[in-house]
Amino acid sequence: MTVTRFAPSPNGSLHLGHAYSAIVAHDLARERGGRFLLRVEDIDGERSLPEKAEEFREDLAWLGLDWEEVPAQSTRLESYEQVARDLLGRGLLYPCSCTRKQIMALKPRMGPEGAIYPGTCKGRLLDPDKPAALRLDADRAMAEVGEPFWEDEVGGTQIADPRVFGDVVLVRKDAPASYHLAATLDDAADGVTLVTRGQDLFAVTHIHRVLQELLHLPVPTWHHHPILLDDTGEKLAKRRNSPSLADRRKQGEDGKELAARLRAGELPTGITLASA
Ligand code: GLU
Repeated sequence: MTVTRFAPSPNGSLHLGHAYSAIVAHDLARERGGRFLLRVEDIDGERSLPEKAEEFREDLAWLGLDWEEVPAQSTRLESYEQVARDLLGRGLLYPCSCTRKQIMALKPRMGPEGAIYPGTCKGRLLDPDKPAALRLDADRAMAEVGEPFWEDEVGGTQIADPRVFGDVVLVRKDAPASYHLAATLDDAADGVTLVTRGQDLFAVTHIHRVLQELLHLPVPTWHHHPILLDDTGEKLAKRRNSPSLADRRKQGEDGKELAARLRAGELPTGITLASA
């Protein structure tokens, strides 16, 4: 059975791009007689706002979607800690105390998600009292799992190579998991068979796919859909003043009509749907 999910982070309001993403996940599940899940990804400490999660539920209902909600990430921290301990014990993670500023000062190479960590802390003994993140040793990971592939319903078969990101953080200084670790574990725990998300997140699948191999998790299929861009060609984002779904809802707009227009590809003036 097809199981999809919409996994928003309650750090800010949802906008049209999120609505599109939620509709894609919902409709793919419904077309295939499957299940559509909502998972609140709230491990950003003080930036995760419980009232936003409630706003998201109202937004989705307003769009005419129905869903099953699975436990929020903040209730699953122990499972992340356990897995991180396992990976650390296997020599696949190393502590890193570098700040962003220190990394940028080294003029690192840029990858799909920004700076590629130059490996400064790899093999170093760190002061145990200093806060440290844990990074995946991508070379060691690849030596263990080879180059696994993934099936993307939009892009076809892909070869996973996390080295496009360098050694990513799996355990943050301030949280027991990064997005990569938490989302990969939760998709498996929630029985997600089809991971749908925007093409702006296409590259992170390199990491998630390798984590699945390292952790012997079931392997879903992916569907990276095109994303909505504003009139400057940038991804829609609240900070660029795109109206939130909550604003539209409160202004009396009909959410089901909006959903129907998004499904038909009829986008508001200035907004385009494009591959990243
Ligand atoms: N919480 C992530 C976000 O809001 C989810 C991304 C995903 O679907 O994997 O961007």
